[in-house]
Amino acid sequence: MASDLIVVGSVAIDSVETPFGREEESLGGSALYFSAAASLFSPVKVVAVIGEDFPRDAVDFLEGRGVDLTGLITSPGKTFRWKGRYGFDLNEAHTLETHLNVFEDFNPVLTQGQRESEYVFLANIDPEIQLKVLDQVDSPRLVAADTMNFWIEGKPKALKKVIERVDVLVLNEAEARMLSGESNLVKAGKKILEWGPAGVVIKRGEYGVIYFAENHVFSAPAYPLESVFDPTGAGDSFAGGFMGHIAATGDVSTEGLRRAIVYGSAVASFNVEDFSFKRLATVAREDLRDRYAEFRAMTVFEADV
Ligand code: AMP
Repeated sequence: MASDLIVVGSVAIDSVETPFGREEESLGGSALYFSAAASLFSPVKVVAVIGEDFPRDAVDFLEGRGVDLTGLITSPGKTFRWKGRYGFDLNEAHTLETHLNVFEDFNPVLTQGQRESEYVFLANIDPEIQLKVLDQVDSPRLVAADTMNFWIEGKPKALKKVIERVDVLVLNEAEARMLSGESNLVKAGKKILEWGPAGVVIKRGEYGVIYFAENHVFSAPAYPLESVFDPTGAGDSFAGGFMGHIAATGDVSTEGLRRAIVYGSAVASFNVEDFSFKRLATVAREDLRDRYAEFRAMTVFEADV
């Protein structure tokens, strides 16, 4: 099947500590979580680089899901590594170590098929790499991007160029505050919209998501989970569900984006139920539809009389 959704981002080996446990050298990275989630909805093509030490089983898992890995290059050297810790407030990751390794010299060159992608997600990675991909896609219908504090602080100019050129920016609330210099999220959202995007999705962990566009606000709750095991990848799997649903339906209307936000929230709620993407490996399309219905039931209310 032709795939119209492409993602560039990190493919990583993560070491994560939470109050409930620790997992060393597990599979992660923004592009990996994104494609594991997006492939539940739509075909997806990955552009990224791994080192020679990357375990084969992750590649097999994604191939089994039909993910197009033509753009996943293996370079001499070590895979990107990230070490993070979460405290009892699972909404905030504390980065302990970042080793870019093979990403330091990564220069993606897209094939003709990849250039023709209609939906583009610039997952969290060096904004200079995000720009290189953006320069090569022909005329996408919708481009969205994510980032994090590491790049907001480290590469602000390149990041600003990315933001000016995307349709939707997806980021978490701490990043929105840091990027905009505004502590109030409404002000932060409005300021970011002035830089170019038509929409900004601000993820608030267990408090849900707020979407801002011109004269439009949409607020979706998070699924009320009793046990959140590992929040790593919640943002990327949200983005995968969001973009995967848009690519599957072709619906970029405001209503379509609102549905995609709820599907993104549904996928993220499954992802955090286990370490790495163990849970995403077993979730079925039907589970997502059921959870979507639960979100709807949870938020609908009658007009006042
Ligand atoms: P999140 O969805 O925000 O929890 O993203 C978690 C993933 O981001 C982890 O699997 C990390 O490998 C990846 N990550 C952490 N720091 C970076 C970075 N500086 N650039 C790209 N990816 C990163």
